[in-house]
Amino acid sequence: MDSKDANAQEQANELRHKLSQWRQANPQATLTEIEEVVEVELAQLRKQLVEGMIQEAARETSAVPDCPPCGQKMVKNGWRKRKLKGKEGQMVEIDRQQWRCLICGTTLFPPG
Ligand SMILES: [Zn+2]
Repeated sequence: MDSKDANAQEQANELRHKLSQWRQANPQATLTEIEEVVEVELAQLRKQLVEGMIQEAARETSAVPDCPPCGQKMVKNGWRKRKLKGKEGQMVEIDRQQWRCLICGTTLFPPG
């Protein structure tokens, strides 16, 4: 098992632990309440997983893009926070390498 799997496993265990604590604190909870809590926790976990995966992919892409207007090789412009809209309208915030063209000043995020 590599560290990524261990991390996912740990998150799942943590979530289970958190939910069982909540269950103990709310023994009278209805099915609907339980479902809501699980829903909220799962949404957070899903967001973390998605952000982690996008982040990883972003760090692995190192190809230097060409500037769309003038075709020059772009230079790294540092890491910027970028918000992407997820499938269900949730905002996913990730760090992306931003590129900048020294000729015309166009800035660009790699696709994805
Ligand atoms: Zn340019």
